[in-house]
Amino acid sequence: MTKQNVIVSDTGDITKSTINMAITLTLSSKSLFTYAPMPSSPMQKPPSGGFITVSRKKLWEKDDPVKASSTTHIKSPVFFSAVAEDHSSWIFHHPSALKKFDQITNASKGKQIVMFLDYDGTLSPIVDDPDRAFMSDQMRKVVKEVARYFPTAIVSGRCRDKVYSFVKLAGLFYAGSHGMDIKGPAEYQKGNKPVLFQPASEFLPMIDEVYKALVEKTKSTPGAKVENNKFCLSVHFRRVDEKWWSALAEQVRSVLKEYPKLRLTQGRKVLEVRPTIKWDKGKALEFLLESLGFANCNDVLPVYIGDDRTDEDAFKVLRDRGQGFGILVSKIPKDTNASYSLQEPSEVMTFLHRLVEWKRLTPRT
Ligand SMILES: [Mg+2]
Repeated sequence: MTKQNVIVSDTGDITKSTINMAITLTLSSKSLFTYAPMPSSPMQKPPSGGFITVSRKKLWEKDDPVKASSTTHIKSPVFFSAVAEDHSSWIFHHPSALKKFDQITNASKGKQIVMFLDYDGTLSPIVDDPDRAFMSDQMRKVVKEVARYFPTAIVSGRCRDKVYSFVKLAGLFYAGSHGMDIKGPAEYQKGNKPVLFQPASEFLPMIDEVYKALVEKTKSTPGAKVENNKFCLSVHFRRVDEKWWSALAEQVRSVLKEYPKLRLTQGRKVLEVRPTIKWDKGKALEFLLESLGFANCNDVLPVYIGDDRTDEDAFKVLRDRGQGFGILVSKIPKDTNASYSLQEPSEVMTFLHRLVEWKRLTPRT
């Protein structure tokens, strides 16, 4: 097994890095996209009597059946007991939003819930082909109901038109390209016009140019797929054999060398290229709350549900504001600013359904 040195930093920013970090795992040589352990994480506690460092990569991998089935794990009893211990500690700090449902609805008393929903991995399962990440009709029906009772926004890294083509629901806010392309429904007007906000417009020609360069550069990597999300780009490696990951990262970095105004981050089996402007899903959340008339209000309870690292910006905003809740969709422990957790999209659907039922049955005050 060979050791990889190109590793993504915990911030996810790998543009500048010659190589941002280098944690060398003793458990696996496949460390290209390894996440650095965070000292503050409860999951970093060493197992009693052991010295194995369980990286976050190990934990994240278990989230993904494709990866889990393709990677050789060391099945040591120490490893498993460490994971079990970490999991219960993590769940204690990020309990299931279903189990704590009453706590969430109690907190909303006298407040307007505003719902923010990520798309991939939250409303739809993560699938091999990103073009086929469809949401179920059942989920669509529930989201439609949610939007009837609460102002609702879909916040995604994808191109806004693409997300809309998946969700197909009017009456919602759509924030595509990691919040860099926000459009509101006709019924929410600002100055007699629907909300439209595109803080990275000036980057459009550059993004187009880099899209073409990346398509050309990565065509030699079997399975790599470059997606143009209008204000940002995604290089999906879900279908790329692990042995090519290092080469793919290098190809992407070699293109971006010429574009210092773009940065590279990593999501779930995807490398994201976006403008260096200070705008992310957290800023989009703040912008949307303001557009809805909830800036500096105490009578609002924003709830943001997402599964990815990019959603952490929104979770952090909520935590910093001391307002509302982040809910992380994950089966396994991850470092997060979210308050609650749900395991998978089916649980998200159950949670949303319960929220609608609760609202329907709650007498208006
Ligand atoms: Mg997602």
